[in-house]
Amino acid sequence: MNSNSSAPPKQHVFTALREWLDHLCATGRVARIKPGISLKHELAAISKKLDGKQATYFPHPDGHEIPVISGFMSRRSWIAEAMGVSESGLLARFRDAAANPLKCEEIPQDQAPCQQVVHQDRDPREVMPIPTHSEHDNGPYITAGLVIARNPATGVQNVSINRIQVHSARQMAILLLPRHLWAFFKEAESKNQALDVAIAIGVDPLTLLASQAIGPIDWDELEVAGGLHGKPLRVVKCRTNDVRVPADSEFVIEGRLLPGVRELEGPFGEFPKYYSTREKREVIEIDAITHRKDPVYHTIVPAEMEHLLLGMIPREASLLAHLQRSFPNVLDVHLSVGGVGRYHLYIKIRKTHEGQPKNIICGAFGAHYDIKQVIVVDDDVEVHDPQQVEWAVATRFQADRDLVVISGAQGSVLDPSTTLGMDLHDDSQIPGHVAGLSAKMGLDATRPVVYHGHVFTKVAVPGEDQIRLEDVIDTSAAIRFSDPR
Ligand code: MN
Repeated sequence: MNSNSSAPPKQHVFTALREWLDHLCATGRVARIKPGISLKHELAAISKKLDGKQATYFPHPDGHEIPVISGFMSRRSWIAEAMGVSESGLLARFRDAAANPLKCEEIPQDQAPCQQVVHQDRDPREVMPIPTHSEHDNGPYITAGLVIARNPATGVQNVSINRIQVHSARQMAILLLPRHLWAFFKEAESKNQALDVAIAIGVDPLTLLASQAIGPIDWDELEVAGGLHGKPLRVVKCRTNDVRVPADSEFVIEGRLLPGVRELEGPFGEFPKYYSTREKREVIEIDAITHRKDPVYHTIVPAEMEHLLLGMIPREASLLAHLQRSFPNVLDVHLSVGGVGRYHLYIKIRKTHEGQPKNIICGAFGAHYDIKQVIVVDDDVEVHDPQQVEWAVATRFQADRDLVVISGAQGSVLDPSTTLGMDLHDDSQIPGHVAGLSAKMGLDATRPVVYHGHVFTKVAVPGEDQIRLEDVIDTSAAIRFSDPR
């Protein structure tokens, strides 16, 4: 089945974090780490060792009474399992949920698990066990916080995950990339107003995934979470503002993005496996911290599989939908792990006309500014297998004929190669205005529509797909080559 077809979940859908964690535990996929591991570096180092193999559970990190969990979404197959579909049905299911969002169900505050405990005037570093991850990180960072805000013009909510540096008892610095939350804040700041926000930490796997959906600005990602769950997501109004947060979150920080205030933030090791520079960035003032009675704190170790996959899958689904609107013969897409799940896009097509792959390459560059390299392949190439994609480039691509290069386009500010030529120590240069200037590269690795004989026919052995090894392997006797037979 390709990713075009709609695929309603056939198996159980996991809608609660604790249910999913229990399921992982019951199937040997959570490593319980000894108590007392250090929040500084040691926790991230252990998670990294088990990345993509097991989730990690840390009781009493640094003696803190609240445990930390990490890596519970670190395999593509696990994410499909949480969604109740097969891996091949993953993108179709996500796209289906994004196309059919469900309005949230608001519940009273006294029934919301995330508000069982309410703190005011507490330092988040005391309330929560917040790890310091990478070598040059400037202290503890919240990495799995869903930042939720309301559009000041329309009231429609937006959800995104932003890195948040906790550097004082009342304030935290945040990185805003030029997307929806940034636009909301600019709108508020232009009137010298603060923007109310809430940060939900410890949400269920599918709400975490839905937060990364790529859609129009007035498109509430929590409604996509409802679409994935197959039932409305329970939300509750914050204690100190009007933002609605997932009621079953483990923790919620309530606060305001302050107008006209910037604080130094970073360095911080980001998803491309490089450090973001230390710069002045937006600031959240904390108004309250709420949590469950017995909360679990979730941290995402930057650049590891959980981080990459959470961005990859919703992006792949959105990019596929975007491309198919203009090019119905696009069959599937993949953001490669080596391309940090963001920059390198592989596109599988059923080519009908010469030149078509170059049009599709241009369409992909317009779909998201992060896309830096596009490779278009035919329908006999498995687009989720980088080795097959490289084979197509090796045998169907010629650089003087099949290469598209666009200079000086908008790229990812987190790609360090985009800042080349800029003196980061020269204060007269404003990095935000220069970083992210990027070239785009497209490779048409498709064969001609018409070709002579079998010159572009992939070698296959008749019947290879039908062979069942258990039918043909004889286990009734051992083989001995050294003795006479
Ligand atoms: Mn959005």
